[in-house]
Amino acid sequence: MEPHIENQNEQMIPEHRRLRSGEFWQVIPAYQSVDEKTFLDYKWQLKHSITSVKKLLETLKDLVPADFYKDVEKGFHHVPMAVRISPYVMSLIDWDNPYEDPLRRQFLPLASQLKPDHPELHLDTLHEQADSPVPGFTHRYPDKALLLALDICPVYCRYCTRSYGVGFDTDEVEKVKFSQDVARYQKIFEYIKSQPQLEDIVLSGGDAYMLRSERLRYLGENLLAIPHVRRIRIATKGPAIMPMKLLTDHDWYGALRDIVEQGRYLHKEVCVHTHFSHPQEVSDISKRAMDRLMEDGITVRNQAVLQRGVNDDKNIMVLLARRLAYLNVQSYYVYMHDLVKGVEDLRTTLQTGLDIEKFVRGSTAGFNTPNFVVDAPGGGGKRSIHSYEHYDPETGISIYTAPSVKPGQYFYYFDPIDTLSPNIQADWQNQTKREEMKEAALVAAKHGRK
Ligand SMILES: *Cc1c(COP(=O)(O)O)cnc(C)c1O
Ligand code: SF4
Repeated sequence: MEPHIENQNEQMIPEHRRLRSGEFWQVIPAYQSVDEKTFLDYKWQLKHSITSVKKLLETLKDLVPADFYKDVEKGFHHVPMAVRISPYVMSLIDWDNPYEDPLRRQFLPLASQLKPDHPELHLDTLHEQADSPVPGFTHRYPDKALLLALDICPVYCRYCTRSYGVGFDTDEVEKVKFSQDVARYQKIFEYIKSQPQLEDIVLSGGDAYMLRSERLRYLGENLLAIPHVRRIRIATKGPAIMPMKLLTDHDWYGALRDIVEQGRYLHKEVCVHTHFSHPQEVSDISKRAMDRLMEDGITVRNQAVLQRGVNDDKNIMVLLARRLAYLNVQSYYVYMHDLVKGVEDLRTTLQTGLDIEKFVRGSTAGFNTPNFVVDAPGGGGKRSIHSYEHYDPETGISIYTAPSVKPGQYFYYFDPIDTLSPNIQADWQNQTKREEMKEAALVAAKHGRK
């Protein structure tokens, strides 16, 4: 083939179909001589994941300046999450510009970029623990529920809602534990059996990627055996941060494929919900992994989190939706960032979300267009961001209702404090003024003043 013809063709390929390929990981000093077979081995990925500054230093060596390591070290001490980054993600970060890189921002905290928390921030803002009839099972909506199968993940996302439960204890937070314990699962099955209206179970964690394959099979088979359970979603960030596992962990993949197939014969849907947040997370390896799922008839949907400095940009979100569509992954949700401690730097304003949503809708097929939602703090559940009862960008307060989840209740969401004017920021620090602002917003909401 004439090389120049190939180049010409390449220029005509739209951006969303151009994926990183080749041995891109070899720019990382520690992976310089790692061949493709090794890099695709999920055990190698797990074993070489970055969990400390020491490991980071051993991996990147002099690829980044010494100041950067100091910044990370300080960052590690101030966050409620543990840190774990796969070599795959390490290789997709642009280390020429680690301060701005969207993937670095999501997984590796820098002290210099942290911002003070909003005074209204609390751990477990979604009240998952309060809505849990059995440990590790959140039943908030009438016909669907969330099963927390374990408390570990292949990476730890800084923005994680479940930072009360996921990961190791850190300096800031002592975690609630959810083990891969069959006795605990049995209590959950008993509860589900007692609730015939429950049709839809989300198998989550932690991350289902880290379930032992026999546990995944056990959970899938037992849930499918409950007659009123009609749909199961297996929620995992895995395809986004360690896609090679789907190509090389034959036991785990086999368990997934078997559950999906069993479900199909029972006329029940079993699908995968994953969690890409940025087009840079999609490589040729992701394509190969998703192609395999496509061949086995496994539906994949995506839930992204809107994050400042990561994907709070209309063109990035369009590119993400199109690139995922190319992988046969349907964009399902984009979440406003939850009110989580220690990640105020990643939160955006509601206005940002509203603007991006308007631009994304209409740019591609409707079934590949995500719904932008806010998971209302206090247990209101997911609400379309446009459905606010009241929003004041000046105070950053928005108010939602959830008539089918918690009728009669009002739920607040708050824009990041540092995006507000200095005067309003000062008001937030004053207990009386704070209550006044919230009360005024509530009155406006109750009077139908958007
Ligand atoms: C998100 C969530 C679900 C699933 O909701 P969908 O809108 O159907 O994706 C179920 N239970 C809880 C507690 C949840 O947070
Ligand atoms: S993979 Fe999911 S559960 Fe685990 S840290 Fe990330 S967002 Fe949280």
